[in-house]
Amino acid sequence: MLTSMTGKSVVVTGASKGIGRGIAQVFASKGARVLVVSRNAEEGASCAAELGNGASSFAADVTNWDDMERMSRSAADRHGGIDVLCANAGIFPQIGIEDMSVGQWDEVLATNLKGTFLSVKACLPYLKRSQSGRIVITSSITGPITGFPGWAHYGASKAGQLGFLRTVAIELAKYRITVNAVMPGNIATEGLGDLGEDYERGMAASIPLKRLGRVVDVGYAALFLASEEAGYITGQTIVVDGGQILPESLEALA
Ligand code: NAP
Repeated sequence: MLTSMTGKSVVVTGASKGIGRGIAQVFASKGARVLVVSRNAEEGASCAAELGNGASSFAADVTNWDDMERMSRSAADRHGGIDVLCANAGIFPQIGIEDMSVGQWDEVLATNLKGTFLSVKACLPYLKRSQSGRIVITSSITGPITGFPGWAHYGASKAGQLGFLRTVAIELAKYRITVNAVMPGNIATEGLGDLGEDYERGMAASIPLKRLGRVVDVGYAALFLASEEAGYITGQTIVVDGGQILPESLEALA
C-alpha cells in the first residue's frame, strides 16, 4: 500500500482521453486533486467532472509556452501548488519516411518533445516549492526500444524524451524533484483505436499477456513513480507492455 496522495496537486497533460485519463483516474481515486489539461475544453471539463475529488480542467496546447505558463499558474492557484506533473500529451500519426513532410515531422516533435519541455519548464517553479516534487513523462517502447513503420518522427520524439529526462533528473535532484518515465506498449485508447482493428489484433497476438494494456495499467506505474516510496528513484523508466518487447521471434510466443 503506497502512501496516500490525498491533498496532492497533480497536473496531467493530455488527460481528457486515453492514457492521460487513466493516469488521472488512478491519482484521483487515491485522493489527489487533478488538473486535466487538453486542447478541447469540453472534453477536458467532462473528464474533470467524472473524476470528482476537486478535479478541474484547463484548455491548453502543450506546444504553446503562454498556454503552459497560464496552465501551471492556474493549477497552483486552484489546487494550492503543484506536487506532481504527468507530462503525457502526445500524438502518433503514421506516415512513412518517404512521404513524411517537414511539417508533419515538426508537428510530432513539437507536441511530444517540445511539449514535454514546456510542461516541465512551466510547472518547475511550483514543483520546487513542493517537498516531494515528481515528474512522470509518458514515453513509449516505440523509439527507445522498438521501431514500427510510419513512426520515425514519433520514435525520435519518444527516445528524445528519455534523453531529456536523464539530464533534467540530475539538474533537479538538488530540489528533491524526481524525473522518471513510463514506457507503454500498446494500450487500448481512443488514439490507438484510430489505427484500426487489424492493427489492434496483430499487436495483441504479439504480446505474451495476449491483450492490449488498459489505461489504468499505465496509471498505476505513474502512481508508483509519484509516490513517497519511489523518492530514491530518478532518471529511470518502467516498461508497461504485457511483455511485448521480450520475444526474439514468433516461435517464442508459441
Ligand atoms: P489519445 O487517446 O489520442 O489522447 C491524447 C490526449 O492528448 C488527449 O487528451 C488530447 O486532447 C491530448 N493532446 C494531444 N495533443 C495535445 C496538445 N498539443 N496539447 C494538449 N493536449 C494534447 O492518446 P493516447 O493513446 O492516450 O497517448 C497518450 C500518450 O501516451 C502519448 O504521449 C503517446 O505517445 C503515449 N503512448 C501511447 C501508447 C498507446 O498504445 N496508446 C503507447 C505508447 C505511448 P486534445 O486533442 O483535446 O488536445
